[in-house]
Amino acid sequence: MAIKDLPKYKDIRGTIRRNGRYPIAKVGSLVGIKAKDTHVIHHSMTAQHLKGSTPQAFANTHIEANKWQGIAYAFVIMPDGTIYQCDDLDRRTNHAGNTNDISIGTCVIGDFRKEGEAEKPTQDQIISLFLLNKELFKEIPSMKHVIGHQECPGYAWKNCPGDTWDYKKVITGEGLMNVKEEDIMSQPLNPTNPALNKAVQNVLLKFEQDKDQPLSCQWREKFEKRELTISDAVGLLYVAAERGYLNR
Ligand SMILES: [Zn+2]
Repeated sequence: MAIKDLPKYKDIRGTIRRNGRYPIAKVGSLVGIKAKDTHVIHHSMTAQHLKGSTPQAFANTHIEANKWQGIAYAFVIMPDGTIYQCDDLDRRTNHAGNTNDISIGTCVIGDFRKEGEAEKPTQDQIISLFLLNKELFKEIPSMKHVIGHQECPGYAWKNCPGDTWDYKKVITGEGLMNVKEEDIMSQPLNPTNPALNKAVQNVLLKFEQDKDQPLSCQWREKFEKRELTISDAVGLLYVAAERGYLNR
């Protein structure tokens, strides 16, 4: 899997508002993605139900009020688990001061401060953050650390990503202990994953061509409506394998 193939990944780099571009990151002779070794976790410090708790709204604030080139975060994770990619990973976006050049910033939507709204990340956000971090480390060989915003030099005063949760437990997967396997398996297949989509489509065709043991048309309908879950796909591929459809 790659970041772009994560179940709830959405790329909005082409549509989100910008004012110019952030510069390419640089640390000594390391340029761009090679300079990145740290994943910095933030919360938005805005309540999850607020209309303004969106990457588009943050982009507006960061451009208009802060006079920055665009949204501070490379990724924003919504309460429903949607992972928005907002900028390229080789850019030095303004999310953590002196740590910007070496880091990639992810913002989990919510106000996770005890003295604030005292929200906690949703199950969907926990799953998405865990998966996103794992893929970041797989995709970018130079990645070494995951830290909260307040662990960045100069930000000890800042209660970010908030004290109602322990992001470290999410990163290690410990926070996933309460997440049932069904929660992950019931997520929809990501239609932007061309390889998996094609495999499922091929298997559906085989089922439809099989006159002796036809398959209910509900699978085709679910597929067309993009309602097919990961669990459905695994089941279909399993039956297909049993029937020998995959032996070619
Ligand atoms: Zn922060």
